Amino acid sequence: MIVIKMGGASGVNLDWVMGDVAAQVKAGQKMVVVHGGSGETNAISEQLGHPPRFVTSPSGYTSRYTDRTTLEIFAMVTSGKINTLLVEKLQSLGVNAFGLSGVDGRLMVAKRKEAIRIVENGRQRMLRDDYTGKIEEVNSKLLMMLLDDGYTPVIAPLAISPEGVALNVDADRAAAMVAGAVKAEQLIILSNVPGLMRNFPDESSVIAYIDKAKVERSLEFAEGRMKKKVLGASEALGLGVSKVVFADGRVENPVANALAGQGTVIS
Ligand code: ADP
Repeated sequence: MIVIKMGGASGVNLDWVMGDVAAQVKAGQKMVVVHGGSGETNAISEQLGHPPRFVTSPSGYTSRYTDRTTLEIFAMVTSGKINTLLVEKLQSLGVNAFGLSGVDGRLMVAKRKEAIRIVENGRQRMLRDDYTGKIEEVNSKLLMMLLDDGYTPVIAPLAISPEGVALNVDADRAAAMVAGAVKAEQLIILSNVPGLMRNFPDESSVIAYIDKAKVERSLEFAEGRMKKKVLGASEALGLGVSKVVFADGRVENPVANALAGQGTVIS
């Protein structure tokens, strides 16, 4: 079993990634696809007159402030558009893809962070009415049922709270939780960079291998949203996934390349 996280960052080639996923599925490999969509949500939020707002936590993580309107736009873009287009692509390639988000069948249950602590102008304060969450449980039975029946699940990054409230979740960490839940051998995180760079943005400084015991230490190289990917990698490894690869989603055969060890391999 392989879990692929497909980033929405500009440059990631949807056709090549899905083409490669289809080739793997046809060769008998069970795959689960998890995708993001923050870039496109930003663009559409602007168009709808509700521009995105980003906040920074005291420990330096950046995330989207998700009020109810933002949550609905996020659902529209990720579940509505991106998920459907990925499923359409896989279907056109002869793969019986099945799109769902963590809301469906309680696939991903998350604890809502109702108030988040943020740093603004050097000062800390609490921000309320946020619809984001941290995944605590994945309905692996549902995924296994789909996989055993020959479907390839394609998952949008929304979760549901125990009370039944839809939440925006980080797609990299969702992919990590899913990989752990389905006992994947590998989690491949495709983005618009060739791997984790020691001196970002110098592409010649890509780290080829990181020992899983040292993954937390590599957080120091990651800036901005890359931090969440490293955190996701660490969570996946902690859940028993043996290998996490950060690989380039802009190139031809992105999945085959990652499986061949290109990118940053953490194991
Ligand atoms: P996606 O939408 O694919 O999930 P993100 O934009 O969230 O991708 O994160 C990937 C980005 O992280 C890269 O495009 C890069 O600009 C940034 N980044 C920050 N630090 C690093 C690093 N040390 N190595 C690689 N990329 C990094």
